[in-house]
Amino acid sequence: MVLHVFHGAGYERERVYAARVMFEEFLGLEIALHAGQEAGWRIVRGEEEDGKELRLADVLFRTPQGEWLTEKAMPSRPVPRWHTGGHPVKAPLVAPDVPVLYGEEVPNGGYLAVWDGGLQIGADLLGGAFWMLTRYEEIVRKERDVRGRYPAFASLAVQEHFYERPVVNEYLEILWWALRALWPDLERKKRRFTPRLSHDVDWPLMGAGRPFFQTVKRAAGDALRRRSAQAAVRRLGGWWRAAAHGDYDGDPYNTFDHLMEWSEQQGLRSAFYLIADHSGAGEVDGDYSLEEPWVRRLMRRIKERGHEIGLHPSYETYRDPRRLRREFDRLRLVCAEEGIEQERWGGRQHFLRWEAPGTWQAWEEAGLDYDSTLSFAERPGFRCGVCYEYPVFNLLTGEELKLRERPLIVMEQTVLHRQYLGLDPWEAWVLIDRLRTRCRLFDGEFSMLWHNSQLVDQGETDLYRRLVETM
Ligand SMILES: [Zn+2]
Repeated sequence: MVLHVFHGAGYERERVYAARVMFEEFLGLEIALHAGQEAGWRIVRGEEEDGKELRLADVLFRTPQGEWLTEKAMPSRPVPRWHTGGHPVKAPLVAPDVPVLYGEEVPNGGYLAVWDGGLQIGADLLGGAFWMLTRYEEIVRKERDVRGRYPAFASLAVQEHFYERPVVNEYLEILWWALRALWPDLERKKRRFTPRLSHDVDWPLMGAGRPFFQTVKRAAGDALRRRSAQAAVRRLGGWWRAAAHGDYDGDPYNTFDHLMEWSEQQGLRSAFYLIADHSGAGEVDGDYSLEEPWVRRLMRRIKERGHEIGLHPSYETYRDPRRLRREFDRLRLVCAEEGIEQERWGGRQHFLRWEAPGTWQAWEEAGLDYDSTLSFAERPGFRCGVCYEYPVFNLLTGEELKLRERPLIVMEQTVLHRQYLGLDPWEAWVLIDRLRTRCRLFDGEFSMLWHNSQLVDQGETDLYRRLVETM
């Protein structure tokens, strides 16, 4: 039976999106929206009212027009916490103290009031979810790092210490709990925990098939700048085996067959995102071309084994829709030449270079189906506050797009690289497993990026294998 959702005036498209994603997309419920003069969100069921109703605070969408997308519309700090432990909220939560991005306390104080046939929640669950999912703060705030990215430290979730919890999922569970408390026979869409493994292919080979001089130069870099004589030796060895015996298999970055095998053993599919063209940004875009016969063979093998190919748009694409489109067209053309067809096409921006909402819009216009960029390079966790794939919204045009975001939860370099957290494999396991457990709690999707070139060190290789074996 239909749920009727009544709401106040203003921000019509934004409200429709927020309600549609939470009720329809995430819970699988049928709703009818009604704009009116309500002071908050009010939800009733069916044609004949049974006298029951759920009321939710409405704060974000009451922002005066002139203050929309400005600092004045941002959540106030410190972000209040709703201590649900003292209330009968029976929902799976990461912790009982839920951050309330937008809200107003109910008349008796606190964030929950219950009466015969009704429930009132003082947290603006729909506004807060909208704010997280659309990356609202990233348009308001102008901070950028040296790579032009919105930095983790500027994020409210990082500043307020809730970055490691998918707060939108928690809002959703509270909403579901409240709906079920009123209408116990409601049923929600079934979900299952889904691990998603993906591999950005920046450097498919360490030494094999590369020009000799370039390989020597990089080996010197391994030995001097990165202080790894072992890496230098392996790079040169990879070059030599390929040059002398045509053997690419021993190259330390050529881990594709292992990656596929390990995924297959767990019944998983790996996605390999390839760089289709170079930005003119130099070495930062890797050094391979889709024209190389070895790369073409690799693509066919990925396809034959039932894994996925996707796009890894080059360094300068995040603000350049035409370049992005060209690169996607190029990938599609090469795939067509190799007889590779796929129903869905997705990928991830190189270096996680992404900007709201332009990069999403460019992906939409290029014809891609999903993006899986959204995590911060410096911190693993829930940049969008959610561990479900969802359709995205362009805050500047006020339109919901067909493009879907598949939020990235962990990039291995974030955890292992000295430039970021620099954890040893054991500490990395603890952190990654904690985040994975949180995705499990909500039957969510755990999206993890592991580069083919990050399986050189034995400890890191063991860590990856153990993670895959326990998916
Ligand atoms: Zn990359």
